[in-house]
Amino acid sequence: MTLTHADWQHRAAALTLDGHAYIAGQRCAPRENGWLDSINPMNGSVLAHIAACDSRDVDTAVAAARQAFEQGDWAQAGPGERRRVLLAVAREIRDHAAELALLDSLEVGKCINEALDDAEEAAVLFDWFGEVQDKCFDEVAPSPANTQASVVHEALGVVAAVVPWNYPLHNAAVKVAPALAAGNSVVLKPAEESALSALRLAELCTRAGLPHGVLNIVPGHGHVAGEALGRHPDVDALGFTGSSEIGKRFLVYSGESNMKPIWLECGGKSPLLIFDDCPDIEAAADAAIAGIFTNAGQVCSAHSRLLLQSGIADAFLDALRRRVAEIRPGDPLDPATTLGPIVSRAQFDKVCSYLAIGREEAALVCGGEPIRGLGSELFVAPTIFADVERHHRIFQEEVFGPVLSVSRFESDEQAITLANASRYGLAASLWTANLSRAHRMSDALQAGTVSVNTVDAVSPQTPFGGMKESGIGRDYALHGMRKYMAPKTRWICY
Ligand code: NAD
Repeated sequence: MTLTHADWQHRAAALTLDGHAYIAGQRCAPRENGWLDSINPMNGSVLAHIAACDSRDVDTAVAAARQAFEQGDWAQAGPGERRRVLLAVAREIRDHAAELALLDSLEVGKCINEALDDAEEAAVLFDWFGEVQDKCFDEVAPSPANTQASVVHEALGVVAAVVPWNYPLHNAAVKVAPALAAGNSVVLKPAEESALSALRLAELCTRAGLPHGVLNIVPGHGHVAGEALGRHPDVDALGFTGSSEIGKRFLVYSGESNMKPIWLECGGKSPLLIFDDCPDIEAAADAAIAGIFTNAGQVCSAHSRLLLQSGIADAFLDALRRRVAEIRPGDPLDPATTLGPIVSRAQFDKVCSYLAIGREEAALVCGGEPIRGLGSELFVAPTIFADVERHHRIFQEEVFGPVLSVSRFESDEQAITLANASRYGLAASLWTANLSRAHRMSDALQAGTVSVNTVDAVSPQTPFGGMKESGIGRDYALHGMRKYMAPKTRWICY
Protein backbone atom coordinates (compact mmCIF):
# COMPACT_ATOMS: atom_id res chain seq x y z
CA MET A 1 0.00 0.00 0.00
CA THR A 2 1.41 3.41 -0.96
CA LEU A 3 0.83 6.03 1.71
CA THR A 4 0.19 9.70 0.91
CA HIS A 5 1.52 12.72 2.73
CA ALA A 6 -1.77 12.98 4.65
CA ASP A 7 -1.61 9.26 5.57
CA TRP A 8 1.87 9.71 7.04
CA GLN A 9 0.79 12.81 8.94
CA HIS A 10 -2.15 10.91 10.46
CA ARG A 11 0.09 8.03 11.42
CA ALA A 12 2.60 10.41 12.97
CA ALA A 13 -0.12 12.07 15.04
CA ALA A 14 -1.27 8.66 16.33
CA LEU A 15 2.20 7.49 17.45
CA THR A 16 3.00 6.80 21.08
CA LEU A 17 6.51 8.07 21.72
CA ASP A 18 8.29 6.54 24.69
CA GLY A 19 11.76 7.80 25.61
CA HIS A 20 12.32 5.63 28.70
CA ALA A 21 15.50 3.56 28.72
CA TYR A 22 15.25 -0.19 28.06
CA ILE A 23 17.09 -2.34 30.58
CA ALA A 24 16.61 -6.03 31.39
CA GLY A 25 13.54 -6.27 29.19
CA GLN A 26 11.74 -3.31 30.74
CA ARG A 27 11.22 0.38 30.15
CA CYS A 28 12.68 2.43 33.00
CA ALA A 29 13.25 6.04 34.02
CA PRO A 30 16.80 7.25 34.63
CA ARG A 31 17.80 7.11 38.32
CA GLU A 32 18.43 10.84 38.56
CA ASN A 33 15.27 11.50 36.56
CA GLY A 34 17.23 13.45 33.98
CA TRP A 35 15.63 13.84 30.56
CA LEU A 36 16.52 15.44 27.25
CA ASP A 37 14.22 16.67 24.52
CA SER A 38 13.85 15.02 21.17
CA ILE A 39 13.17 17.85 18.71
CA ASN A 40 11.46 17.52 15.34
CA PRO A 41 13.72 19.50 12.97
CA MET A 42 10.79 20.09 10.62
CA ASN A 43 8.89 22.30 13.07
CA GLY A 44 10.98 22.67 16.24
CA SER A 45 8.38 20.88 18.38
CA VAL A 46 9.37 18.59 21.25
CA LEU A 47 8.50 15.07 20.14
CA ALA A 48 9.33 13.25 23.36
CA HIS A 49 11.35 13.39 26.55
CA ILE A 50 14.24 10.97 26.32
CA ALA A 51 15.98 9.38 29.30
CA ALA A 52 19.35 11.02 29.93
CA CYS A 53 21.06 8.04 31.48
CA ASP A 54 24.04 8.66 33.73
CA SER A 55 26.91 6.38 34.76
CA ARG A 56 24.78 4.56 37.35
CA ASP A 57 22.13 3.77 34.74
CA VAL A 58 24.92 2.50 32.53
CA ASP A 59 26.16 0.35 35.44
CA THR A 60 22.65 -1.11 35.78
CA ALA A 61 22.44 -1.88 32.06
CA VAL A 62 25.91 -3.44 31.94
CA ALA A 63 25.08 -5.55 35.02
CA ALA A 64 21.87 -6.73 33.34
CA ALA A 65 23.79 -7.59 30.19
CA ARG A 66 26.43 -9.46 32.19
CA GLN A 67 23.84 -11.41 34.13
CA ALA A 68 22.03 -12.38 30.94
CA PHE A 69 25.32 -13.48 29.40
CA GLU A 70 26.23 -15.63 32.37
CA GLN A 71 22.76 -17.09 32.62
CA GLY A 72 23.44 -18.36 29.11
CA ASP A 73 19.92 -18.38 27.65
CA TRP A 74 21.35 -16.55 24.64
CA ALA A 75 25.11 -17.05 24.85
CA GLN A 76 24.73 -20.83 25.20
CA ALA A 77 21.71 -21.16 22.93
CA GLY A 78 22.28 -23.44 19.98
CA PRO A 79 22.86 -21.76 16.61
CA GLY A 80 19.43 -22.92 15.43
CA GLU A 81 17.74 -21.08 18.29
CA ARG A 82 19.72 -17.90 17.63
CA ARG A 83 18.83 -18.14 13.97
CA ARG A 84 15.14 -18.51 14.81
CA VAL A 85 15.12 -15.42 17.04
CA LEU A 86 17.19 -13.18 14.75
CA LEU A 87 14.97 -14.04 11.78
CA ALA A 88 11.94 -13.30 13.94
CA VAL A 89 13.47 -9.88 14.74
CA ALA A 90 13.76 -9.23 11.00
CA ARG A 91 10.07 -10.08 10.60
CA GLU A 92 9.13 -7.76 13.48
CA ILE A 93 11.09 -4.93 11.84
CA ARG A 94 9.28 -5.49 8.55
CA ASP A 95 5.91 -5.68 10.31
CA HIS A 96 6.67 -2.36 12.05
CA ALA A 97 8.58 -0.72 9.20
CA ALA A 98 6.18 2.19 8.82
CA GLU A 99 6.33 3.00 12.53
CA LEU A 100 10.12 2.71 12.70
CA ALA A 101 10.51 4.83 9.56
CA LEU A 102 8.25 7.48 11.04
CA LEU A 103 10.31 7.64 14.24
CA ASP A 104 13.51 8.25 12.28
CA SER A 105 11.85 10.68 9.91
CA LEU A 106 10.34 12.75 12.72
CA GLU A 107 13.49 12.83 14.85
CA VAL A 108 16.11 13.59 12.20
CA GLY A 109 14.17 14.98 9.21
CA LYS A 110 14.91 11.97 7.01
CA CYS A 111 12.71 11.64 3.90
CA ILE A 112 10.09 9.01 4.63
CA ASN A 113 10.92 6.79 1.67
CA GLU A 114 14.60 6.77 2.65
CA ALA A 115 13.57 5.91 6.21
CA LEU A 116 11.51 2.99 4.89
CA ASP A 117 14.56 1.79 2.95
CA ASP A 118 16.60 2.02 6.16
CA ALA A 119 14.08 -0.15 8.00
CA GLU A 120 14.27 -2.78 5.25
CA GLU A 121 18.08 -2.68 5.38
CA ALA A 122 17.96 -3.15 9.15
CA ALA A 123 15.74 -6.21 8.63
CA VAL A 124 18.13 -7.54 6.00
CA LEU A 125 21.00 -7.28 8.50
CA PHE A 126 19.14 -9.36 11.10
CA ASP A 127 18.30 -11.89 8.38
CA TRP A 128 21.88 -12.01 7.17
CA PHE A 129 23.58 -12.38 10.55
CA GLY A 130 20.87 -14.75 11.74
CA GLU A 131 21.51 -16.97 8.73
CA VAL A 132 25.30 -16.78 8.68
CA GLN A 133 26.05 -17.52 12.34
CA ASP A 134 25.05 -21.20 12.13
CA LYS A 135 27.15 -21.72 9.01
CA CYS A 136 30.53 -20.70 10.45
CA PHE A 137 32.79 -23.52 11.51
CA ASP A 138 35.72 -23.46 13.86
CA GLU A 139 39.20 -24.69 12.93
CA VAL A 140 41.39 -27.69 13.61
CA ALA A 141 45.05 -26.79 13.19
CA PRO A 142 47.82 -29.14 12.01
CA SER A 143 49.57 -30.51 15.12
CA PRO A 144 51.95 -33.35 16.12
CA ALA A 145 50.73 -36.94 16.62
CA ASN A 146 48.68 -37.58 19.72
CA THR A 147 47.70 -33.93 20.01
CA GLN A 148 44.85 -31.88 18.78
CA ALA A 149 44.99 -28.12 18.33
CA SER A 150 41.69 -26.42 17.64
CA VAL A 151 40.62 -22.81 17.41
CA VAL A 152 37.13 -21.93 18.60
CA HIS A 153 35.52 -18.51 18.34
CA GLU A 154 33.83 -17.50 21.56
CA ALA A 155 31.45 -14.66 22.32
CA LEU A 156 33.22 -11.85 24.17
CA GLY A 157 30.56 -11.19 26.80
CA VAL A 158 29.15 -7.66 27.06
CA VAL A 159 29.50 -5.57 23.91
CA ALA A 160 28.69 -1.85 24.00
CA ALA A 161 27.73 0.26 21.00
CA VAL A 162 27.59 4.04 20.60
CA VAL A 163 25.98 5.35 17.41
CA PRO A 164 25.10 8.65 15.67
CA TRP A 165 21.83 10.16 14.44
CA ASN A 166 22.14 10.09 10.66
CA TYR A 167 20.79 6.53 10.19
CA PRO A 168 19.34 5.84 13.65
CA LEU A 169 17.70 2.44 13.18
CA HIS A 170 20.16 1.24 10.57
CA ASN A 171 23.25 2.20 12.60
CA ALA A 172 21.78 0.39 15.61
CA ALA A 173 21.14 -2.75 13.53
CA VAL A 174 24.66 -2.66 12.08
CA LYS A 175 26.07 -3.00 15.61
CA VAL A 176 23.39 -5.08 17.35
CA ALA A 177 22.72 -7.82 14.77
CA PRO A 178 26.31 -9.16 14.47
CA ALA A 179 27.08 -8.77 18.17
CA LEU A 180 23.95 -10.78 19.05
CA ALA A 181 24.62 -13.33 16.32
CA ALA A 182 28.01 -13.92 17.94
CA GLY A 183 26.28 -14.73 21.24
CA ASN A 184 27.04 -11.53 23.16
CA SER A 185 24.84 -9.33 25.30
CA VAL A 186 24.66 -5.71 24.13
CA VAL A 187 24.26 -2.25 25.66
CA LEU A 188 23.59 0.40 23.01
CA LYS A 189 23.66 4.17 23.39
CA PRO A 190 21.85 5.97 20.59
CA ALA A 191 22.51 9.62 19.73
CA GLU A 192 20.86 12.40 21.75
CA GLU A 193 18.83 13.40 18.67
CA SER A 194 17.49 9.98 17.76
CA ALA A 195 16.83 7.35 20.44
CA LEU A 196 13.25 6.36 19.64
CA SER A 197 13.74 3.76 16.92
CA ALA A 198 16.53 1.99 18.85
CA LEU A 199 14.24 1.79 21.88
CA ARG A 200 11.47 0.29 19.74
CA LEU A 201 13.95 -2.11 18.19
CA ALA A 202 14.78 -3.45 21.65
CA GLU A 203 11.08 -4.03 22.38
CA LEU A 204 10.68 -5.81 19.06
CA CYS A 205 13.68 -8.02 19.85
CA THR A 206 11.99 -9.05 23.10
CA ARG A 207 8.76 -9.81 21.21
CA ALA A 208 10.80 -11.94 18.84
CA GLY A 209 12.08 -14.04 21.74
CA LEU A 210 15.40 -12.43 22.72
CA PRO A 211 15.86 -13.13 26.45
CA HIS A 212 15.64 -10.18 28.85
CA GLY A 213 18.90 -8.35 29.46
CA VAL A 214 20.52 -9.48 26.21
CA LEU A 215 19.82 -6.11 24.54
CA ASN A 216 19.70 -2.91 26.61
CA ILE A 217 19.33 0.68 25.40
CA VAL A 218 20.71 3.60 27.44
CA PRO A 219 19.92 6.92 25.73
CA GLY A 220 21.75 9.97 26.99
CA HIS A 221 24.49 12.49 26.48
CA GLY A 222 27.67 11.35 24.80
CA HIS A 223 30.04 12.76 27.40
CA VAL A 224 28.02 11.07 30.17
CA ALA A 225 26.47 7.75 29.04
CA GLY A 226 28.81 7.30 26.07
CA GLU A 227 31.93 7.94 28.12
CA ALA A 228 30.64 5.69 30.93
CA LEU A 229 30.37 2.82 28.44
CA GLY A 230 33.78 3.59 26.96
CA ARG A 231 35.42 3.49 30.40
CA HIS A 232 33.34 0.66 31.86
CA PRO A 233 35.52 -2.11 33.35
CA ASP A 234 32.88 -4.77 32.64
CA VAL A 235 32.35 -3.94 28.94
CA ASP A 236 34.38 -6.40 26.87
CA ALA A 237 34.39 -4.56 23.52
CA LEU A 238 32.85 -1.44 22.05
CA GLY A 239 31.69 -0.62 18.54
CA PHE A 240 31.46 3.11 17.78
CA THR A 241 30.05 4.96 14.81
CA GLY A 242 30.45 8.72 14.74
CA SER A 243 32.97 11.47 14.21
CA SER A 244 36.70 10.82 14.11
CA GLU A 245 37.16 13.33 16.94
CA ILE A 246 34.96 11.32 19.34
CA GLY A 247 36.27 8.02 17.96
CA LYS A 248 39.75 9.00 19.14
CA ARG A 249 38.38 9.63 22.62
CA PHE A 250 37.15 6.05 22.80
CA LEU A 251 40.69 4.84 22.24
CA VAL A 252 41.68 6.91 25.28
CA TYR A 253 38.73 5.62 27.35
CA SER A 254 39.81 2.09 26.58
CA GLY A 255 43.48 2.74 27.26
CA GLU A 256 42.66 4.33 30.59
CA SER A 257 40.30 1.54 31.66
CA ASN A 258 40.35 -2.16 30.74
CA MET A 259 41.91 -2.14 27.24
CA LYS A 260 38.66 -3.28 25.66
CA PRO A 261 38.90 -3.56 21.87
CA ILE A 262 37.42 -0.47 20.21
CA TRP A 263 36.03 -0.68 16.68
CA LEU A 264 35.59 2.66 14.97
CA GLU A 265 33.43 3.68 12.00
CA CYS A 266 34.18 7.37 11.68
CA GLY A 267 34.06 10.31 9.30
CA GLY A 268 34.80 10.62 5.63
CA LYS A 269 35.45 12.95 2.72
CA SER A 270 35.01 10.44 -0.07
CA PRO A 271 36.19 11.25 -3.61
CA LEU A 272 34.23 10.53 -6.79
CA LEU A 273 36.47 10.51 -9.87
CA ILE A 274 34.94 10.97 -13.33
CA PHE A 275 37.33 10.19 -16.18
CA ASP A 276 36.95 11.51 -19.74
CA ASP A 277 36.00 7.99 -20.88
CA CYS A 278 33.10 7.73 -18.41
CA PRO A 279 30.84 5.12 -20.06
CA ASP A 280 27.52 6.76 -19.12
CA ILE A 281 27.57 10.42 -18.16
CA GLU A 282 23.84 10.52 -17.31
CA ALA A 283 24.05 7.52 -14.96
CA ALA A 284 27.23 8.91 -13.40
CA ALA A 285 25.56 12.28 -12.79
CA ASP A 286 22.55 10.56 -11.15
CA ALA A 287 24.93 8.63 -8.92
CA ALA A 288 26.95 11.74 -8.08
CA ILE A 289 23.78 13.56 -7.01
CA ALA A 290 22.65 10.63 -4.85
CA GLY A 291 26.19 10.32 -3.51
CA ILE A 292 26.17 13.79 -1.99
CA PHE A 293 22.55 14.90 -1.52
CA THR A 294 20.93 11.73 -0.09
CA ASN A 295 19.93 12.33 3.54
CA ALA A 296 20.84 16.01 3.00
CA GLY A 297 24.50 15.00 2.73
CA GLN A 298 24.53 13.67 6.29
CA VAL A 299 26.17 10.41 5.27
CA CYS A 300 29.56 9.16 6.46
CA SER A 301 30.50 7.95 3.01
CA ALA A 302 28.98 10.96 1.20
CA HIS A 303 31.00 11.54 -1.96
CA SER A 304 31.64 15.18 -1.13
CA ARG A 305 34.73 15.62 -3.32
CA LEU A 306 34.00 15.38 -7.05
CA LEU A 307 37.18 15.12 -9.15
CA LEU A 308 36.58 15.71 -12.86
CA GLN A 309 38.99 15.04 -15.69
CA SER A 310 39.26 18.23 -17.78
CA GLY A 311 37.73 16.83 -20.98
CA ILE A 312 34.42 15.94 -19.34
CA ALA A 313 34.28 18.57 -16.59
CA ASP A 314 32.01 21.18 -18.20
CA ALA A 315 29.50 18.66 -19.54
CA PHE A 316 29.39 16.88 -16.20
CA LEU A 317 28.80 20.09 -14.25
CA ASP A 318 25.93 20.93 -16.62
CA ALA A 319 24.40 17.51 -15.98
CA LEU A 320 24.66 18.12 -12.22
CA ARG A 321 23.08 21.59 -12.43
CA ARG A 322 20.06 20.15 -14.26
CA ARG A 323 19.58 17.51 -11.60
CA VAL A 324 20.00 19.90 -8.66
CA ALA A 325 17.12 21.93 -10.09
CA GLU A 326 14.92 18.81 -9.77
CA ILE A 327 15.66 18.20 -6.07
CA ARG A 328 12.52 18.78 -4.07
CA PRO A 329 12.98 20.14 -0.54
CA GLY A 330 10.01 19.90 1.81
CA ASP A 331 8.27 18.03 4.59
CA PRO A 332 10.05 14.68 5.05
CA LEU A 333 6.63 13.03 5.55
CA ASP A 334 5.65 13.95 1.99
CA PRO A 335 6.75 11.00 -0.19
CA ALA A 336 7.54 13.45 -3.02
CA THR A 337 10.18 15.22 -0.90
CA THR A 338 13.79 14.43 -1.75
CA LEU A 339 15.59 16.87 0.60
CA GLY A 340 14.68 17.25 4.28
CA PRO A 341 15.94 19.75 6.83
CA ILE A 342 19.31 19.45 8.58
CA VAL A 343 18.99 17.43 11.80
CA SER A 344 19.50 20.22 14.36
CA ARG A 345 20.30 23.89 14.82
CA ALA A 346 23.89 23.04 15.81
CA GLN A 347 24.47 20.97 12.67
CA PHE A 348 22.72 23.61 10.51
CA ASP A 349 25.04 26.31 11.90
CA LYS A 350 28.06 24.12 11.16
CA VAL A 351 26.93 23.53 7.57
CA CYS A 352 26.25 27.27 7.10
CA SER A 353 29.74 28.10 8.38
CA TYR A 354 31.11 25.93 5.55
CA LEU A 355 28.92 27.75 3.03
CA ALA A 356 30.69 30.97 4.08
CA ILE A 357 34.11 29.29 3.93
CA GLY A 358 33.33 27.86 0.50
CA ARG A 359 32.27 31.25 -0.87
CA GLU A 360 35.64 32.69 0.19
CA GLU A 361 37.71 29.79 -1.07
CA ALA A 362 36.08 28.73 -4.33
CA ALA A 363 33.48 29.49 -7.02
CA LEU A 364 29.83 28.99 -6.14
CA VAL A 365 27.99 26.97 -8.82
CA CYS A 366 24.60 26.67 -7.11
CA GLY A 367 22.95 26.87 -3.70
CA GLY A 368 25.20 28.35 -1.04
CA GLU A 369 22.48 29.45 1.35
CA PRO A 370 19.58 28.29 3.51
CA ILE A 371 16.15 27.80 1.93
CA ARG A 372 13.40 29.85 3.56
CA GLY A 373 9.65 29.40 3.62
CA LEU A 374 9.40 25.62 4.01
CA GLY A 375 8.18 25.58 7.60
CA SER A 376 11.61 24.88 9.07
CA GLU A 377 14.60 27.21 9.35
CA LEU A 378 16.96 24.27 8.95
CA PHE A 379 16.90 23.69 5.19
CA VAL A 380 20.14 24.16 3.26
CA ALA A 381 20.06 24.43 -0.54
CA PRO A 382 21.98 21.74 -2.42
CA THR A 383 25.32 23.45 -2.92
CA ILE A 384 28.15 22.97 -5.40
CA PHE A 385 31.50 24.78 -5.26
CA ALA A 386 33.87 24.57 -8.25
CA ASP A 387 37.59 25.37 -8.60
CA VAL A 388 38.26 23.82 -5.21
CA GLU A 389 41.93 23.24 -4.42
CA ARG A 390 43.39 20.55 -2.21
CA HIS A 391 44.47 22.96 0.54
CA HIS A 392 40.96 24.44 0.83
CA ARG A 393 39.01 23.64 3.97
CA ILE A 394 35.96 22.57 1.93
CA PHE A 395 38.23 20.03 0.23
CA GLN A 396 39.71 18.73 3.48
CA GLU A 397 37.02 18.94 6.18
CA GLU A 398 33.87 16.86 6.59
CA VAL A 399 30.88 19.20 6.25
CA PHE A 400 28.19 16.55 6.81
CA GLY A 401 25.64 18.52 4.81
CA PRO A 402 24.51 18.96 1.16
CA VAL A 403 27.75 20.56 -0.01
CA LEU A 404 29.82 19.27 -2.94
CA SER A 405 33.31 20.49 -3.80
CA VAL A 406 34.51 20.07 -7.40
CA SER A 407 38.14 19.97 -8.54
CA ARG A 408 39.76 19.15 -11.89
CA PHE A 409 42.62 16.88 -12.89
CA GLU A 410 44.47 15.97 -16.10
CA SER A 411 46.22 12.62 -15.57
CA ASP A 412 45.66 9.41 -13.62
CA GLU A 413 48.57 10.32 -11.36
CA GLN A 414 47.03 13.69 -10.53
CA ALA A 415 43.71 11.98 -9.85
CA ILE A 416 45.31 9.58 -7.37
CA THR A 417 47.24 12.34 -5.61
CA LEU A 418 44.13 14.50 -5.26
CA ALA A 419 41.87 11.64 -4.16
CA ASN A 420 44.33 10.48 -1.49
CA ALA A 421 45.07 13.99 -0.19
CA SER A 422 42.78 13.50 2.80
CA ARG A 423 43.07 12.37 6.40
CA TYR A 424 40.02 10.18 5.71
CA GLY A 425 39.81 6.93 3.75
CA LEU A 426 36.25 5.58 3.98
CA ALA A 427 35.05 5.16 0.38
CA ALA A 428 36.05 6.17 -3.14
CA SER A 429 34.24 5.77 -6.47
CA LEU A 430 35.27 6.21 -10.09
CA TRP A 431 33.76 6.02 -13.55
CA THR A 432 35.82 4.84 -16.48
CA ALA A 433 35.45 2.53 -19.48
CA ASN A 434 39.08 1.45 -19.18
CA LEU A 435 39.39 -1.86 -17.31
CA SER A 436 43.11 -1.47 -16.66
CA ARG A 437 42.56 1.96 -15.17
CA ALA A 438 39.73 0.61 -13.01
CA HIS A 439 42.10 -1.97 -11.53
CA ARG A 440 45.02 0.47 -11.13
CA MET A 441 42.80 3.01 -9.40
CA SER A 442 41.24 0.38 -7.12
CA ASP A 443 44.76 -0.54 -6.02
CA ALA A 444 45.94 3.05 -5.56
CA LEU A 445 42.97 4.68 -3.85
CA GLN A 446 43.23 4.75 -0.06
CA ALA A 447 39.71 3.73 0.91
CA GLY A 448 37.95 0.86 2.64
CA THR A 449 35.63 0.46 -0.37
CA VAL A 450 36.36 1.39 -3.99
CA SER A 451 33.35 1.35 -6.34
CA VAL A 452 33.77 1.39 -10.13
CA ASN A 453 30.98 2.63 -12.44
CA THR A 454 28.66 3.00 -9.47
CA VAL A 455 28.87 5.12 -6.31
CA ASP A 456 29.26 3.88 -2.76
CA ALA A 457 28.37 0.21 -3.22
CA VAL A 458 27.44 -1.40 0.13
CA SER A 459 26.01 -4.82 0.98
CA PRO A 460 25.74 -7.06 4.04
CA GLN A 461 28.05 -9.55 2.31
CA THR A 462 31.00 -7.14 2.00
CA PRO A 463 32.95 -5.44 4.78
CA PHE A 464 32.44 -1.70 5.27
CA GLY A 465 34.83 0.61 7.09
CA GLY A 466 37.68 2.98 6.63
CA MET A 467 41.39 3.50 6.36
CA LYS A 468 43.29 6.36 8.01
CA GLU A 469 41.13 8.48 10.33
CA SER A 470 37.92 6.96 8.98
CA GLY A 471 38.22 4.16 11.45
CA ILE A 472 39.50 0.85 12.74
CA GLY A 473 37.91 -2.47 11.78
CA ARG A 474 34.98 -3.30 9.55
CA ASP A 475 31.21 -3.64 9.92
CA TYR A 476 29.02 -5.97 7.82
CA ALA A 477 30.00 -9.38 6.50
CA LEU A 478 31.81 -12.00 8.57
CA HIS A 479 34.35 -9.36 9.65
CA GLY A 480 31.50 -7.53 11.32
CA MET A 481 30.60 -10.58 13.42
CA ARG A 482 34.00 -12.12 14.09
CA LYS A 483 35.27 -8.92 15.70
CA TYR A 484 32.74 -9.52 18.48
CA MET A 485 34.27 -12.96 19.11
CA ALA A 486 37.62 -14.05 20.52
CA PRO A 487 39.55 -16.94 18.98
CA LYS A 488 40.58 -19.42 21.65
CA THR A 489 43.27 -22.00 20.92
CA ARG A 490 42.82 -25.37 22.66
CA TRP A 491 45.62 -27.92 22.83
CA ILE A 492 44.81 -31.46 23.86
CA CYS A 493 47.53 -34.10 24.25
CA TYR A 494 46.31 -37.66 24.35
P1 NAD B 1 29.46 12.27 17.18
O1 NAD B 1 30.82 11.69 17.17
O2 NAD B 1 29.30 13.65 17.70
O3 NAD B 1 28.46 11.35 18.04
C1 NAD B 1 28.34 9.97 17.83
C2 NAD B 1 27.94 9.30 19.13
O4 NAD B 1 28.96 9.54 20.10
C3 NAD B 1 26.64 9.83 19.73
O5 NAD B 1 25.92 8.79 20.32
C4 NAD B 1 27.13 10.80 20.80
O6 NAD B 1 26.22 10.96 21.87
C5 NAD B 1 28.39 10.09 21.28
N1 NAD B 1 29.35 11.01 21.91
C6 NAD B 1 29.50 12.33 21.68
N2 NAD B 1 30.47 12.84 22.49
C7 NAD B 1 30.94 11.81 23.23
C8 NAD B 1 31.94 11.70 24.23
N3 NAD B 1 32.65 12.77 24.65
N4 NAD B 1 32.18 10.48 24.78
C9 NAD B 1 31.46 9.40 24.38
N5 NAD B 1 30.49 9.45 23.45
C10 NAD B 1 30.23 10.64 22.87
O7 NAD B 1 28.92 12.14 15.69
P2 NAD B 1 27.55 12.66 15.10
O8 NAD B 1 27.64 14.13 14.89
O9 NAD B 1 26.42 12.13 15.90
O10 NAD B 1 27.53 11.90 13.70
C11 NAD B 1 28.19 12.37 12.59
C12 NAD B 1 29.53 11.68 12.41
O11 NAD B 1 29.36 10.27 12.35
C13 NAD B 1 30.19 12.06 11.10
O12 NAD B 1 31.56 12.30 11.30
C14 NAD B 1 29.99 10.82 10.23
O13 NAD B 1 30.92 10.69 9.20
C15 NAD B 1 30.09 9.74 11.25
N6 NAD B 1 29.47 8.50 10.77
C16 NAD B 1 30.27 7.46 10.37
C17 NAD B 1 29.71 6.28 9.86
C18 NAD B 1 30.58 5.15 9.39
O14 NAD B 1 30.05 4.06 9.20
N7 NAD B 1 31.87 5.35 9.16
C19 NAD B 1 28.32 6.18 9.76
C20 NAD B 1 27.53 7.24 10.17
C21 NAD B 1 28.12 8.41 10.67
